[in-house]
Amino acid sequence: MSSGPPVQKEYRRDDSCRIEAMWDVGEAPPRPGEPVEVAAGVHLLLAPNANHWTYEGTNTWIVVGDGRAVVIDPGPTDPGHLDRIDEVVRGAGARVETVLLSHHHGDHSQAASAVAERWQAAIRPRVQQGVIPDGTRLDLGRRTEIRTLSTPGHTSDGVSFSLGDRRVMLTGDTVLARFNPYISHPDGTVADILGSMARIADLVDDDWILLPGHGPAVREPTTYLHARIADRQRRIDQIAGLLADGVAREQITDHVYAKVDDQRRPAARASVEAILHYLDTRAVRMREKGSTV
Ligand SMILES: [Zn+2]
Repeated sequence: MSSGPPVQKEYRRDDSCRIEAMWDVGEAPPRPGEPVEVAAGVHLLLAPNANHWTYEGTNTWIVVGDGRAVVIDPGPTDPGHLDRIDEVVRGAGARVETVLLSHHHGDHSQAASAVAERWQAAIRPRVQQGVIPDGTRLDLGRRTEIRTLSTPGHTSDGVSFSLGDRRVMLTGDTVLARFNPYISHPDGTVADILGSMARIADLVDDDWILLPGHGPAVREPTTYLHARIADRQRRIDQIAGLLADGVAREQITDHVYAKVDDQRRPAARASVEAILHYLDTRAVRMREKGSTV
């Protein structure tokens, strides 16, 4: 049973829904600054900010309807990137109405004000958490409707954007292809990310495509998400097992992420802290339950 807003399941494989090009797992990324129309009216512009946090860089998404465009995750305030965004929008005969953010992290949100100022557009959410209500619809015309879906977990303010007519969902850092994104503890939580992954898996089916905030697209998303939820569950069980074996909490990251390099270590540590917090909360709840019996 779905707890979220109804997502349009109907889809006709006509010209307006054709997938033009897609960045798939195992393929070279598009060049930063060279836009790719991955579905009708859905343009990917890879930002020139590749580093150990952003992998190939931030995926900026430009969704164009009938003369109206939305920029999702404008990325870094790189003048060239801002100019490329403008070119894509103008090239499609549109103007930017709204800047949407999948979450507050700077690699996604830094250029929000700059894009909004260039186009006199609104930014949503302007501040964190709850400002875009779940299920908000943005109708851009030409059968292009974006619906918001609250998907916390990586951070507390995570939002995904569904284009039901295209069978496409933009997931920010809630879901990535190739691996699970880290949990930004204490803002993000394990309980939230598991809930958000299950929610997306429930709302889409394997004909949909997820378009993440970094890296290539996710095909067969329901199957993929169930596998990734199982991965997270295994990690939780592994850490619970290490604690039961008497491994000190501060040693857990070294045990679990022995091969992670120094640059990725803070993200690994944040995910481990999030799992330790999840296990602590679960233990307290079980004790409380036990004491009332
Ligand atoms: Zn992030």
